Amino acid sequence: MFSWSIKLGRIFGIPFYLHWTFLILIAFVLLQSWAAHGDLREAFQAVVFILSLFGCVLLHELGHALAARRYGIPTEDITLMIIGGVARLRKMPENPLHELVVALAGPAVNLVIALVLIFSGLGVRIERDNHLHVSEIVFNNGPLGYLLIANVMLMIFNLIPAFPMDGGRVLRALLAMTMDYPKATRTAASIGQLFAIGFGFLGLYVGAPLLLLVALFVWISAGAEAYQVEERYATRDVSIGEAMLTDFVVLPPSATLGEAAEQLLAGSQQDFPIGHGPDAIVGVLPRSRLLEGLARLGPRALVTEAMTPGIEVVEMNGPLLPAMNRLREHGLACMQVRHQGRSVGLLTLENIAELMMIRAALEASRRI
Ligand code: ZN
Repeated sequence: MFSWSIKLGRIFGIPFYLHWTFLILIAFVLLQSWAAHGDLREAFQAVVFILSLFGCVLLHELGHALAARRYGIPTEDITLMIIGGVARLRKMPENPLHELVVALAGPAVNLVIALVLIFSGLGVRIERDNHLHVSEIVFNNGPLGYLLIANVMLMIFNLIPAFPMDGGRVLRALLAMTMDYPKATRTAASIGQLFAIGFGFLGLYVGAPLLLLVALFVWISAGAEAYQVEERYATRDVSIGEAMLTDFVVLPPSATLGEAAEQLLAGSQQDFPIGHGPDAIVGVLPRSRLLEGLARLGPRALVTEAMTPGIEVVEMNGPLLPAMNRLREHGLACMQVRHQGRSVGLLTLENIAELMMIRAALEASRRI
């Protein structure tokens, strides 16, 4: 599969990647600066600035990663993108205080960098007069002044109390100290969406398309975060056995695509295991492959010509969430569920979604 990220190396044992959007940013800055000044040296300086900014974003993410490590949570990897960095923690801290510390650790790094730039005698001078202008800081200090401003901006931007910014997590952690986690997430997500609306209006008012984009991004992320948390909570103590499909059809390898199409129309099953009975499955014919096979090979072709060979197996008593993530991430149509060495069911995303809807409806019926 094509990867959108380039691996750059490891730091504190954590692999870190550069997303290709970051390269676009560098190319853009290079071209724009060259076009504006017609001077390669200026353009080169601009790229050096971007790279040091990149260093600061990396340090910010390391702040999160190392804080999480203190609580025994490892970080899978760090990716640097045009919109900032992402440290993929293996899981989110469940203790609200831990989440608060992990979320604050990133912006704290930017604060430290800014303070170091001001007080270390690296040459960044801020005149102590009444009106402190960003343009003056930059004018007086050149690239280091830019870096100072950039770190302050990074800190402020990340502290906006909306997902996916760190501020959203800070807010959730604070709320979670007084209410349950899903409710804290819902509340934090709603507050984040209010901010998104604010950004949207501001973007329209001052005519800044970038702000509109940020607004859209924040809006979507807030919804996604709330959804993920709800899902994680809803599936928290559900086993695979509860979510599996027990009444399903296995098509023999000698069946034709036409026969499979009849089965598809006759019942609610979307994906068909192929084999001589549930304990001898040789492949899976998902609906998409069936339709594509029908178009390409015709109804007389055998199901084995269109199926994906093999099927993944999960244990009935296992937890649902990892299996669900695996189905999603690997684009699997279904998995075979086994218990004591025998096939007992089929796990599909549609079935899990149905279970979720039923649970949500039951949950709603208990509310007053
Ligand atoms: Zn952060």
